Amino acid sequence: MHELALIQSLLDIVEDCAATDGFCRVNSLKLSFGRLSCLDRQCLEFAFSIQSAGTKAEGAILDFEILPARIRCLDCGREAAMDGAWDRCPSCRSQDVTLTGGTEELRLIEMEVD
Ligand SMILES: [Zn+2]
Repeated sequence: MHELALIQSLLDIVEDCAATDGFCRVNSLKLSFGRLSCLDRQCLEFAFSIQSAGTKAEGAILDFEILPARIRCLDCGREAAMDGAWDRCPSCRSQDVTLTGGTEELRLIEMEVD
């Protein structure tokens, strides 16, 4: 499971910060990833609940910001966030589109600590 490795590196970052900043507990973590990345929120939460045990992040609340899929149309130049199907330009219906967002890997964007 890909999520286990990602959570492990997240926890490594948290421990590094704790060593530098001297906090003793993490209250919440805000994470982001792209909608089209192959990550699953439930898997991440599950991996976190197991792997954070005994670390400073144990019991922390996870908050997710899921980045939308975005395309740019190569015909009319329009950029748009796409909810459902993302294989077609919403303006000119061209299928000549390129994906510009939504595949971002897991990132830590905020951490609230005590
Ligand atoms: Zn277009």
